[in-house]
Amino acid sequence: GSRFQGVEQGPPIEVFQLNKLFIEDTYQNKINLSVGAYRDENAKPWVLPIVRKMEKQMAADETLLHEYLPVLGLEQFSQASVSMLLGEDSPVIAAGRAFGVQTLSGTGGLRVGAEFLNKHLKYTTFYYSSPTWENHHLVFVNSGFTTPRTYRYWDEKSRGIDFDGLIEDLRNAPENSVILLHACAQNPTGVDPTQEQWEKIADVMEEKKLFPFFDSAYQGFASGDLDKDAWAVRYFVKRGFELVCAQSFAKNFGLYNERVGNLTFVVSDAALIPAMKSQLTWIVRGMYSNPPAHGARLVASVLTNKQLFDEWRDHIKTMSSRVIQMREALRAELIKLGTPGNWDHIVKQIGMFSYTGLTPRQVEHLIQEYHIYLLRSGRISVCGLNQNNVAYMAKAMHDAITK
Ligand code: PMP
Repeated sequence: GSRFQGVEQGPPIEVFQLNKLFIEDTYQNKINLSVGAYRDENAKPWVLPIVRKMEKQMAADETLLHEYLPVLGLEQFSQASVSMLLGEDSPVIAAGRAFGVQTLSGTGGLRVGAEFLNKHLKYTTFYYSSPTWENHHLVFVNSGFTTPRTYRYWDEKSRGIDFDGLIEDLRNAPENSVILLHACAQNPTGVDPTQEQWEKIADVMEEKKLFPFFDSAYQGFASGDLDKDAWAVRYFVKRGFELVCAQSFAKNFGLYNERVGNLTFVVSDAALIPAMKSQLTWIVRGMYSNPPAHGARLVASVLTNKQLFDEWRDHIKTMSSRVIQMREALRAELIKLGTPGNWDHIVKQIGMFSYTGLTPRQVEHLIQEYHIYLLRSGRISVCGLNQNNVAYMAKAMHDAITK
């Protein structure tokens, strides 16, 4: 017999399972709306031209070695990431009250941040939006958080935020709860609080002494404007909160598999940073020892050179505007077909995803009858749509809804 005989089959990860089904599907007009990765107008992955260019330069540069990075990563990368998040002229940067740690993409930032808060601040309760990215729960529980809670977020009726519910849930959260907030382009709903609503969220969190943990996986991708997409984080900083923020460069640089991320800390007293960094060093040391260099070098080079930076910003614009166009196209097609319901939410939502409002039964119909792959929740990755397939998608939705 084997030692491993007792290992039970775990459940599949929905998004990867759908992706696999899509790849195996031989139907010509199949559509993949599951995975949150950018696709161009031909439904193909897009390596950003700036990434290709930098990689060619890097391949030719014989001064680049494969020595270990420091445990907390490439300092130049972290500094540039912090400055992209908080704004170059941020007073907390000038005051030396902000620092970053290179992490294994956004997920790694969440993981290191959560473990640090649990180990060193003894925080045990965390709140995430209902619904949220499906991995938040697992990452925090694996980091030592024992009390997962949700705050209300999505309101099915209005297809917007249940703001009263959200505020009530935050009001009832015990002091020192970690509140996980999506910096922009909430996944999966695509609905963000308005600035006025963020102000109220900050009021309650200040009053109730809650700790903000921002998840910034889509900076620039939502509006096409890096500063606009960082508004909420910068607002909390301006209000005087101490906070952490996990940043991912997976989407805005298209560097999904390179695991380029940063964990930003804002603290009220710069003198505390050396001790914090020393403890973060031990957390990373015990988890993966040190991060990979390739993607961080690339991103650092782009962020610190004005001309390269502008080139990259154009790519972000290309991606975010195509998504916005596809939202409009899908809504227009549904209206043209006279599909029952109001489809304004598709264009009002922002970022990569739309929470369509399709029911699990309707989703099943799209998968089985139309070879269109999307999450049970009705979430679609809008990037999967293009001029060639959006009418087919609308027709499929129409059929699922009216049958
Ligand atoms: N947070 C959210 C909300 C996300 O949607 C994602 C990507 N799906 C991540 C974090 C982390 O992604 P990554 O680890 O690839 O940067």
